[in-house]
Amino acid sequence: EPVPSAEMDGFCRIFGVETEYGVAVTGAERPVDAGQVAMTMFQPIVSRSRSTNTYLANGSRLYLDVGSHPEYATAEARDPREALAQDLAGEHVMRNLALKAQRKLRESYGAHATIHVFKNNVDSAGHAFGCHENYLVRRFVPLETIEHQLLPFLITRQLYTGAGRMTPDGFQITQRADFLDEAVSSATTRSRPMVNTRDEPHADPDSFRRLHVIIGDSNRSQWSTWMKLAVTHLVLCAIEDAFRHGVPSGFEQYAFADPAAANRTVSRFLDNPRAELTLESGESVSALGLQRRYYAAVKAFIETHGDALASSLPATTIDTIMGEWSRVLDALERGAYDALADRVDWAAKKRLFDALKRRRPDVTFAQMEQLELDYHDIANGRLYGSLVARNQMRELLTGDNVEYAVHNPPTDTRAALRGRFVDAALNVGAQFSADWTHLTLTAPERREAILLDPFEAEPTLGFEQLMEALN
Ligand code: ATP
Ligand code: MG
Ligand code: MG
Repeated sequence: EPVPSAEMDGFCRIFGVETEYGVAVTGAERPVDAGQVAMTMFQPIVSRSRSTNTYLANGSRLYLDVGSHPEYATAEARDPREALAQDLAGEHVMRNLALKAQRKLRESYGAHATIHVFKNNVDSAGHAFGCHENYLVRRFVPLETIEHQLLPFLITRQLYTGAGRMTPDGFQITQRADFLDEAVSSATTRSRPMVNTRDEPHADPDSFRRLHVIIGDSNRSQWSTWMKLAVTHLVLCAIEDAFRHGVPSGFEQYAFADPAAANRTVSRFLDNPRAELTLESGESVSALGLQRRYYAAVKAFIETHGDALASSLPATTIDTIMGEWSRVLDALERGAYDALADRVDWAAKKRLFDALKRRRPDVTFAQMEQLELDYHDIANGRLYGSLVARNQMRELLTGDNVEYAVHNPPTDTRAALRGRFVDAALNVGAQFSADWTHLTLTAPERREAILLDPFEAEPTLGFEQLMEALN
């Protein structure tokens, strides 16, 4: 069956966010291995699905590879707001697993044993781990073009999506610039570690790619998670459209001469906000200057494609995205970082560190590290919640929205079908397996349904037959 033209011609997109978490224990009477704790967290999953890799009734994927970095990958969403809700549902799921495991842990490791689940990107052993953004992109755009035209945007986007990190030699606005740098210098193709080129579209491979962005930080800020997807969507729309019509996108000249070096410089933005980055063309531009150019190009693109863009996102308006974008760029220009502290993670952290240093000039690096870890701890951390409670951190979704997303998949993608299937299978205790494009009932009888079109939420015949087998 050919892919419907609305999906090929228009700007609709599939968004997905993968979040890896870090696990640690404090207060235990004897040493506990973090890997063991992660396994304890996954015990309820293993006993239900006989595997540490499963799909949930909200259509998302929950899994644990060897080691102590459990991962949650959101169901396919058509809007950044929905992807945000699904990612927060993942925090909720992880928190519940952690608190349950903590009760168990305390039976053998003492009443103070505490499990920490960090939504960050670097652990105490110096390992970096990721937050991956997934974007469905039309296949007719060559991957090299996406890399070339999008990477400079992704690197400078961190000015307002970076999660920030206190390092022994100063505060950086991103978590992993130094780590990506290592990866870059050991790789033959410079941009590989920032955009994964593995070709697994989880959709009709003739029509679509799944762009797999791995340069971004995990965010606690809801605004940041929403914003990074929303603004990247608009840039991708402009790139796709240019390719569709064989015209320039305007981003042709933006490639960095050395992306890793540019990334490192951006991460040290606060040391020198006007630092110049060298482009392949030989020209130099500041990170903010480059964001301004992307902004202007997208703004011009919207003028001619406003209606089509408006219909691409069911729950986010283009004006909202552009308004937020221009506001953060203006604030950065003025050095008004406090004005961003209610929505940008690094700015929220900077404000906390600055306040702490004012109160206690002798504060140590270790103490600041402690504060920072608490900010990222979605299981037992207090800091982030208290910022929200004091209206110092802005939220886009309510607790009810999140609770709803824990149990309900997006209704307008194939995740709706996956969610229905998983829910029904769990209810009758049937054994199943799944991946993004397949649903398989393994017992009492083997049946399979294929969901190749991520935009399709209407049951296919194969799906109906699969569901019948569960009745
Ligand atoms: P990893 O990077 O952990 O090795 P992965 O990136 O291949 O694995 P998953 O962790 O399974 O894959 O996550 C896939 C993500 O891609 C999910 O968030 C999912 O919603 C999203 N996704 C699924 N199909 C598509 C698609 N056709 N286009 C874009 N995103 C998709
Ligand atoms: Mg993954
Ligand atoms: Mg991934």
